Amino acid sequence: MPRTTRTPKPAYRPHVRLSDVHGVYLVESERFAGEYYTTDPILETCTCEAAKWGRATCKHRRLALQVWDAHRVMRLRARGITEAARTIPVAA
Ligand SMILES: [Zn+2]
Repeated sequence: MPRTTRTPKPAYRPHVRLSDVHGVYLVESERFAGEYYTTDPILETCTCEAAKWGRATCKHRRLALQVWDAHRVMRLRARGITEAARTIPVAA
């Protein structure tokens, strides 16, 4: 019986670029290198096929959300604000 060797799928590490709109990112396609989807992680929109077909969360939105959160943490640090201090009490 021949042994089958599976080549592990390379990790999807796309380029994520800033768009002209604050909080909106351009996430590179996994299948089509050099093609970018416009992704708004807060409004939960993406121009990819999965999102077009009503997929609740595509990988581009998840990635854009990670970048958004990293940027948020960097902005907080730049202002000398710690994560705990940013919590704003909201009346229920
Ligand atoms: Zn997408």
